Amino acid sequence: MNIARLNSDPEIFYSLQGEGARTGSPAVFLRLAGCNLHCCWCDTRYSWLPGCSLPVEEVARRLLAYDCPALVITGGEPLLQAAELEELLALLPRHFYIEVETNGTIAPTPALVQRVNQWNVSPKLAHAGNAPEASLRPDVLAAFVCSGRAWFKFVVRGEEDWPAIRALGLPRPCIILMPCASTRDELTAARPAVAEMCLRHRVRLGDRLHLVLWDNKKGV
Ligand code: SF4
Repeated sequence: MNIARLNSDPEIFYSLQGEGARTGSPAVFLRLAGCNLHCCWCDTRYSWLPGCSLPVEEVARRLLAYDCPALVITGGEPLLQAAELEELLALLPRHFYIEVETNGTIAPTPALVQRVNQWNVSPKLAHAGNAPEASLRPDVLAAFVCSGRAWFKFVVRGEEDWPAIRALGLPRPCIILMPCASTRDELTAARPAVAEMCLRHRVRLGDRLHLVLWDNKKGV
């Protein structure tokens, strides 16, 4: 399993979920290496680089050592390693609550749909700078809707982003809008306009708790 490398160590750490429907929940984080997109505002570009290769048994051992029954698998794009993820999740107790952060371009395998408790799907809009056919895959998003366990979390810059979100036809109660920000100050400045968007379109506002608490520090 290829894990992102932060300060030369595999990026596995204990923290609070900073985004999405379980914001504030304690969890162990596992960041996998490699991404099939290259968003211009990506705040984890180091995850694009070759990571550390660890056997899934060793990854499971390190995760279990935290004695925390919640795991957030992030990246990069974790579904690039779907086969390894299946193996890893089979080694974890059934009561573990598993969240996967994904960019929504790769459909989950049936085994992962069975096991993952929550998909945090973050489709990338035009301002991320990827080719639209690569970053917005309605067929893949439909597969996540069918799982019944997906939230759709959009990084937005302003009202101009709403038509592209609406055009995807996703269930409105599962949509979260999140300000485009990579520092606490940027978040503070961007939040009010996104809150207004959420009120206007009847969708949920997503904050970025890790920026509020720790600004742009990595590995927390
Ligand atoms: S999908 Fe996520 S990890 Fe990949 S480039 Fe975009 S922001 Fe970065």
